[in-house]
Amino acid sequence: MTYGFLLSEAAKTLPDPDTAFLDATLLLARCLLISRTELLSRLSLAWNPESNKDALAAFQVLLERRRSGESVAAILGEKEFFGRSFMVNGAVLIPRPDTETLVQAALEVGDQLELLVKQHSGAKGSSCGVRVHDACTGSGAVAISIACERPLWQVSASDISEEALSVARQNSIRLLEQETPRKEIEFFPSDLLSTFLSFEASHETKAEAKAEMNAEIKAERRAAFDIITANPPYVPHNDVDAMFETGCKEPRLALDGGQDGLDYIRRLIPQAKTLLAPGGYLLFESDPFQVASICAMLTESGFEGLRVWLDLAGRQRVTGGHLPSAD
Ligand code: GLN
Repeated sequence: MTYGFLLSEAAKTLPDPDTAFLDATLLLARCLLISRTELLSRLSLAWNPESNKDALAAFQVLLERRRSGESVAAILGEKEFFGRSFMVNGAVLIPRPDTETLVQAALEVGDQLELLVKQHSGAKGSSCGVRVHDACTGSGAVAISIACERPLWQVSASDISEEALSVARQNSIRLLEQETPRKEIEFFPSDLLSTFLSFEASHETKAEAKAEMNAEIKAERRAAFDIITANPPYVPHNDVDAMFETGCKEPRLALDGGQDGLDYIRRLIPQAKTLLAPGGYLLFESDPFQVASICAMLTESGFEGLRVWLDLAGRQRVTGGHLPSAD
């Protein structure tokens, strides 16, 4: 028996025929403690049952977990996103390829904002440090990808779950260190963007707190962001139930968007409006069927220049708009 034969036999027992062989390969590579590329180079070599006894036993356990509906990313504790490997666990949503569209949209819009500032100020070459905040950051995949792709931008991120923030911080330290030394992402615990709003409110009402506050920080916090991104929970409640019935092990908190899936998006839009700089963009992911109602909500809240970005399967995945600019 060859490695290839073992893999194709195992793949036949797995769900989702499109990815079954890949899934089996990833799981066996983990059991053999080798890379997928190394395993693929051995496909036509003979499989030695004696020396690989323990690996085979471990492989059977992982195959069984996959058969019971757990995703390969959850089993391995890591997932590739925008060309980087992110650590994941039961506290976070596993990053989807669809969400790469959100990163692309943010990079595109941020590049445009930078260009506009440069044209206005006549500055050449240097970056103006676009300020991006990623709400509902989960594993940090969106925020960290943006920070790695544009090292001069100021990126912050938040999540309601402390456990998720811990995963995001670990991913951030590891990936930013590898790619862009000295760059940091600031992480905040926050229910959507409410931490930033209560900061504003409390400092507006309490005179003594106001006096204490450094004027510079205040200016920075007010209308703090040029771009707000979010992949909020947006799956309609009943659909989440169906996902759990078929073995989904991700946190309900990261998926369940209420009856029509729009609970968080409804709150996010007015919050973002308060925290974005003039001309600033709100960009977020949703299900394609929600895009029409989302566009109506954005328009009603005063957002302009609405755009929809398609995911790799050509579905409407990311919606965005910007506030009127100052001039
Ligand atoms: N796209 C994800 C799914 O359908 C949902 C992600 C989310 O709710 N933010 O599984």
